[in-house]
Amino acid sequence: MSDEPRGALAERFRRLIRQTGPISLARYMGESNAHYYNTRDPLGASSREDAGDFITAPEVSQIFGELIGVWLADIWTRAGRPDPVHYVELGPGRGTLAVDALRSAARFGLRPQVHFVEGSQALRRVQQQAVPGAVHHHDLSGLPGDGPILFAANEFFDALPIRQLVRTGDGWRERMVGLDRDDLVYVSGAQPMDAALPAELHDAAEGTVIETCPAAAAIIREMARLLAAQGGAALVIDYGARSLQPGETVQALRAHQKLGIFDAPGEADLTAHVDFAALAAAAHGQGARLLGIEEQGAWLRALGIDARTEALARAAPAKAQLLARQRERLVADDQMGQLFKVMGLAAPGWPDGAGFPA
Ligand code: SAH
Repeated sequence: MSDEPRGALAERFRRLIRQTGPISLARYMGESNAHYYNTRDPLGASSREDAGDFITAPEVSQIFGELIGVWLADIWTRAGRPDPVHYVELGPGRGTLAVDALRSAARFGLRPQVHFVEGSQALRRVQQQAVPGAVHHHDLSGLPGDGPILFAANEFFDALPIRQLVRTGDGWRERMVGLDRDDLVYVSGAQPMDAALPAELHDAAEGTVIETCPAAAAIIREMARLLAAQGGAALVIDYGARSLQPGETVQALRAHQKLGIFDAPGEADLTAHVDFAALAAAAHGQGARLLGIEEQGAWLRALGIDARTEALARAAPAKAQLLARQRERLVADDQMGQLFKVMGLAAPGWPDGAGFPA
């Protein structure tokens, strides 16, 4: 689908670095992912041939989206069933989560207007097929101002460009992307960055890496600001830790295999762990209420994944084993159950959310 030959983006980075010097990792990641998502549908199951590069929870099982729909309908009902109400999903992929969530929400009478925040032209076409009435947006600035917003974002924040800082022998520096002959490599920036770090990290061991995601902080602040102004709630689901851990998590994935992040710019998915504590703090700063940060496995069990799996298996006994495997994939500690977190936010005055222990 790309107009450019394979490797063209790598060549563009090389030319740019030769001309202007090293570039930030955020720029490298941002431009690589923009090219990557704009030119393909990367989602697929690992068990098939033309199987895509990675698989996400809504593509594993319909129950994932259904339970998100139940959660949204529940909090909306207890907030007094406000109308109009908007469903806003960030990075909807194939639209699968939206289809499943909206179907199950409708059973409770929740039929919101649907908005998708999506950067990829290729995926916008797939999403339009899945949810014909959805309105597409490039960012959050053009959303309607006339009612509460129910936000959902699954594996969106992990794709946003991160910065890395590295502790060198000369103190903290930004980690940049430079060239070693024709190879893209990490180099340390020239500017001292010590002032950007909390005091307890000043004397960290040489080689320690810290990641931050300014784009994620900016987007969650905007979501929180809209919640505080218009009402509503948000579910942010992604992989990462509850609080900042030093260490490098950025990775590249193609055809379900890890590769080096400089191996195939624009041809592999670049992601990094999400720092949920940073997101929660940014949201709190704009007046949104943190409902909780729960492990995906525990949250899905609290919402009823076991009963729903059994009900589907009773209706289609031939699929019972497949359904059990899909459930396992979503909730088991050694699969997605522990590494993935569900963060709930709500407007001040909105009720607590299901699945978050008070
Ligand atoms: N939520 C889907 C897809 C996850 S892949 C699922 O769970 O299956 C990441 C999604 O975020 C894709 O739809 C991608 O196009 C979108 N995306 C990534 N970076 C983006 C950006 N900077 N702006 C808008 N959308 C972005």
